[in-house]
Amino acid sequence: MAKKWPWADRADQLNQVEQLKLKQDGLDIIDEIIHIYAKEGFESIPEEKFALFKWAGVYQQRPKSDGYFMLRVRIPSGILTSKQVRVIAQLAQEYGRGLIDVTTRQAIQYHWLRIEHFPDIFRRLNEVGLHSWEACGDCPRNIVGNPLAGIDPYELIDTRPIVEELEKTFLLNREFSNLPRKYKISVSASIYNPANAQINDLAFTPAVKEIDGEEVVGFHVWVGGGLSNRPHLAKQLDIFVRPEQVVEVAKGITTVFRDYGYREKRHKARLKFLVADWGVDKFLEVLTGVIGPYPSRGIDKTVSWNAGYFNGVHPQKQKGLYYVGLNIPIGRTSADEFFQLADLADKYGSGGLRTVNTQNIIIPDVPEDKVEQLLEEPLLKRLSPKPKTFTGYAVSCTGNEFCNLALTETKDLMRRVAEYLDEEVELDTPIRLHINGCPNSCGQQQIADIGLMGGKMRTAKGMVEAYTISIGGHLFGAGKFNTQLKGRIQADEVAPVLKGLILFYKEQRKPNETFGQF
Ligand code: SF4
Repeated sequence: MAKKWPWADRADQLNQVEQLKLKQDGLDIIDEIIHIYAKEGFESIPEEKFALFKWAGVYQQRPKSDGYFMLRVRIPSGILTSKQVRVIAQLAQEYGRGLIDVTTRQAIQYHWLRIEHFPDIFRRLNEVGLHSWEACGDCPRNIVGNPLAGIDPYELIDTRPIVEELEKTFLLNREFSNLPRKYKISVSASIYNPANAQINDLAFTPAVKEIDGEEVVGFHVWVGGGLSNRPHLAKQLDIFVRPEQVVEVAKGITTVFRDYGYREKRHKARLKFLVADWGVDKFLEVLTGVIGPYPSRGIDKTVSWNAGYFNGVHPQKQKGLYYVGLNIPIGRTSADEFFQLADLADKYGSGGLRTVNTQNIIIPDVPEDKVEQLLEEPLLKRLSPKPKTFTGYAVSCTGNEFCNLALTETKDLMRRVAEYLDEEVELDTPIRLHINGCPNSCGQQQIADIGLMGGKMRTAKGMVEAYTISIGGHLFGAGKFNTQLKGRIQADEVAPVLKGLILFYKEQRKPNETFGQF
């Protein structure tokens, strides 16, 4: 049952999804999937219910009529155990044709699932502490974080307990399961902003402040970031938050979004539109009415942006231990590789694995004397710690292989383009390539050195798939979205055009000039 929310009084002004959410809380769909639709089959699902499936982490796969689904699994801060990784692999093998995608929010995505599979999948995920609940939908999604939390020499504090507390607070909490739109939280205490603070609805980044003569480590707070076709960079509020206050502040900001966020037009409902209209001062004033006053900003401790890349062998904060960052080409892996990763984590590390928002993976806690042996493992030929310049820095959304909203293919094109550039262009610095199959920007193309966005283009032969190219995005400092170049190109033109662009950069750049500065 849905709560009686105050905005029900203006129901006639709200969009269709809002009308549906007034009748039924999105979380109700979990029980319905388990107890009704999984038993009665795909044909028994009323059309209007599919919009609520997202609260269970479930999307219809393209084409909808075939009755297949995708499922996203939350992995807060990307932290996994080998036991969890084996369950993820088993489920992919049994139900998902062995396919596993790592997403740009550190989550896992399955494909090819049938409605009958879900009770068993939900149960087995839950048994190892994993959930697909609210991995999609108008609710707090997977909390992204520093994949090195707890082992990072460059973090001010270990953010794992904070992320756990946030997860407990928001997951399946019906106070926050009917937000105006999707809601993305990021938490990191690393000085290198690995959790892409500025593109989240709510982000916590490391800061210090002198309070009563003592230097306190805590966070600065950013609100109103998000990509899609009207991207916004988050803005910092003038508050300083102690680690033990993060949950209260997050609840307060989520409450403001829930109660004041726009519910009339779906394409204007993200928190970014409210923040843009109000400005940060008004936002903070309203927030203060909810959570009370907080001290003003301290000193920001973010010094740079590592773009979420951890490839290679690096020392941890624990002396004698190393983490090994592996590339998963285009974020696509398999049950077989996940089983092998779990084995490697047990054999060489402490049984942990960490997913990364660049669709890659890390094996932590490897003692110095085992590193060389790990690097010799056959799996690391494909999941390389030293990937090639372009394949190693290529990110792709799902695209029209499975996604109903896609206008173009993505993963295969990006794989071919990256491989071509690796063959054709010699470069001493990585260039980050991202691709989206539509303006929704799951592939985060706006923060790429070179971003591709799929669309359609009219030609003499009719409408064809085509891509825009944008250059120079980054999240250093306040961040900057890339700039779109004129025109669109077809799929077979992408590789040669990017080659020309990159060679131009190579010839014209000043010493140490990165692509983003170019
Ligand atoms: Fe689908 Fe568009 Fe998201 Fe790609 S960016 S996964 S095509 S919705």
